[in-house]
Amino acid sequence: MSKKAAKKEIRIHESWCKGCEICVQFCPKEVLTMKDGKAWVANLESCTACGLCELYCPDFAIEVLVLDESTKEN
Ligand code: SF4
Ligand code: SF4
Repeated sequence: MSKKAAKKEIRIHESWCKGCEICVQFCPKEVLTMKDGKAWVANLESCTACGLCELYCPDFAIEVLVLDESTKEN
């Protein structure tokens, strides 16, 4: 059971992904892999939402979203 776990989502824009594997190499948690020449989320559970994949993708093809349902700011 998770307490305040933020929901994560990784969006890969397949048409922009050129299959360079940079995101796979930089992900410290081995969340990403390649599938049919495109980046693929293989292990979302391990993702810490560090944002490295998004940062290093040269084609802006990957987007990390953190949807924290438990925050109550403002
Ligand atoms: S946000 Fe970080 S942990 Fe998650 S897939 Fe990207 S590089 Fe890996
Ligand atoms: S870094 Fe970007 S372009 Fe390269 S494989 Fe990953 S998502 Fe695709």
